[in-house]
Amino acid sequence: MQYHLNGFRPGDPATGVRIAELDAHANELPREVDVLIVGGGPTGLTLAAQLAAFPDLSVVVVEQKPGRLELGQADGIACRSMEMFEAFGFSERVLKESYYVNETTFWKPSEARRANIARSGRIQDVEDGLSEFPHVILNQARIQDFLLDVVHQSSSGREPFYGRRLLHLTNDPSATHPVTATLERVDTGVRETIRARYVVGCEGARSVVRTEIGRKLAGDSANQAWGVMDVLAVTDFPDIRFKCAVHSAHEGNLLVIPREGGYLVRLYIELDKLKNSERVLDKNITAERLVAAAQRILQPYTLDVKEIAWWSVYDIGQRLTDKFDDVPEDAMPERMPRIFIAGDACHTHSPKAGQGMNVSIADAYNLGWKLAAVLRGRSSPAILHTYSAERQSLAQELIDFDRAFAKMFSAPPKDPSNPDAGGVDPAEFQAAFVKAGRFTAGTAVHYRPSLIVAEATHQTRATGFVIGTRFHSAPVIRYADARAMHLGHTIKADGRWRLFAFAGSGDLASAQSPFYRLFAFLTESSQSPIRKYTPDGADIDSVIDVRAIVQESHRDLRSDTLPPLSIPNKGRYGLRDYEKVFCADPASDIYDMRGIDRTHGALLVVRPDQYVANVLPLDATAELAAFFDEFMLTADVPELVGASHR
Ligand code: FAD
Repeated sequence: MQYHLNGFRPGDPATGVRIAELDAHANELPREVDVLIVGGGPTGLTLAAQLAAFPDLSVVVVEQKPGRLELGQADGIACRSMEMFEAFGFSERVLKESYYVNETTFWKPSEARRANIARSGRIQDVEDGLSEFPHVILNQARIQDFLLDVVHQSSSGREPFYGRRLLHLTNDPSATHPVTATLERVDTGVRETIRARYVVGCEGARSVVRTEIGRKLAGDSANQAWGVMDVLAVTDFPDIRFKCAVHSAHEGNLLVIPREGGYLVRLYIELDKLKNSERVLDKNITAERLVAAAQRILQPYTLDVKEIAWWSVYDIGQRLTDKFDDVPEDAMPERMPRIFIAGDACHTHSPKAGQGMNVSIADAYNLGWKLAAVLRGRSSPAILHTYSAERQSLAQELIDFDRAFAKMFSAPPKDPSNPDAGGVDPAEFQAAFVKAGRFTAGTAVHYRPSLIVAEATHQTRATGFVIGTRFHSAPVIRYADARAMHLGHTIKADGRWRLFAFAGSGDLASAQSPFYRLFAFLTESSQSPIRKYTPDGADIDSVIDVRAIVQESHRDLRSDTLPPLSIPNKGRYGLRDYEKVFCADPASDIYDMRGIDRTHGALLVVRPDQYVANVLPLDATAELAAFFDEFMLTADVPELVGASHR
């Protein structure tokens, strides 16, 4: 974390404007905003947190609930979401509070006594090296709290406008703020309007915005109903502190999700696998009946529920919208999107693979920086088309995966004494679970070539940083202070592009090496994207942030050999930023771990949402310039010095 750039400030470096000051304005809905976010769930709040990084943008969140969420809903947090939380600055808070899913166990009908269950397998939950972060469990309400804290800590952020429900939208393309939203105050019924340059519908599966742009959620409306309860219980079931999938012979299926704090546990009970008399269709499900079902599934073990903190019937199908914005496919060349949908408004998932909240947060992270770049005059509005293109096809893949996974989960376990009766072999289910690991971790996302993702022409220069996938972090040693850290943690949710220049062997010995020539190009050439796209008076790294990584030990490297752009002067005092040069860590060498060409080095272009946009040779400066020229706009907007960071 870097701070004090524009002068020393005592106190907590993370805290910006005091919440009390913000709340004073909480009920005065502005007439016009840059972005109106409808819905204050994880999707809307992630978008708000991302946009809060830009004090020059006005953003309003409207939420129909009277206040913050306190209980219930989703709780599974994939490794990739943790990587995003690191970018937003609160991963360590989640790590501190959450349950870590280290191993998952599987239970099936006991071969000795079919009426009882027995453990059939145990696997490591996340494969080694997939992410530097674990898969964790923490209630959605806490994630929303952390996102709200990010909003509050920015100088522009404010609390959502609670108790306001969106009724409908109109769009007048000729206006500066083309979209007018009509809202209703939930307590009084009073109507209000607000005009916005962009509107994003993050209001869940029953999205009004989606209906207003004429889109539908298509898919399985024959929903699967799950009984879900967060309980405090005394049990002799030995795996109560493991995530586990339990298939009983005759009583249905159960998913155990241990929760934060050491005692709480979530139980998911698949309702349509219960005997007819217990089904949700009876509209008779009560918490007591769910407890009774869990007790029967877990036999011969006992479950004595002392307290039910929250319970619900989560009735959901795998459904998807065909496009995530208001522009029909055939109008895309001439029309730019103004209205978007994100999260559950576009796709719904079964809870079995734990996708809902994670995919939703990632939608918002994908869209947020693009909206900011367009609103601030940094990028062509054409990049907004990539949001639906990238996230809709990904959602389709995830839904296909979820459907197959859910089907397998729900199938009865194969009976070894009667193999022809069908069902799934628990070993087969376990193998599918392992294979699905990258999907469930959120790391399998691979965007196709577009305006902001290059064709993989030079992928061989860094085979472990696959173009179109997220920057897979690896350890490095920071040169200035010998701090061992993760290179990926330099990528914050601040809307900046990154260039990572990995020096080739021997590059530091010659001023004419590709490494030095790259830095000379970036600093001096009129074609340099840094020179072209950084506004006058702004810090040199405020639009594109360059980081250097070398193979030499931090003890051997001499600071006078480093290119000035890698230790730039910034802020009102022209202080030097010493945190941009890294050395390979001999204990876990990033060149080996990520397949970087040791001889020639490599240049990585990384998007503000941490996706690898291009891999280039260090001397491919013309290709680098051409890549940015496709979508960046020359800066003619005034910039606050140091606005992008403290
Ligand atoms: P949501 O979390 O649904 O947030 C949407 C927000 O928009 C809500 O706060 C809502 O009040 C608000 N809103 C809706 N309409 C309007 C309007 N017209 N105007 C203003 N505001 C509006 N996932 C699991 O994995 N396991 C679970 O057990 C589970 N249980 C769930 C139970 C419920 C009741 C719900 C709604 C969801 C559940 N989910 C569960 C799904 C998971 O919570 C979602 O995938 C995730 O929250 C998606 O986030 P979102 O922000 O897109 O939508």
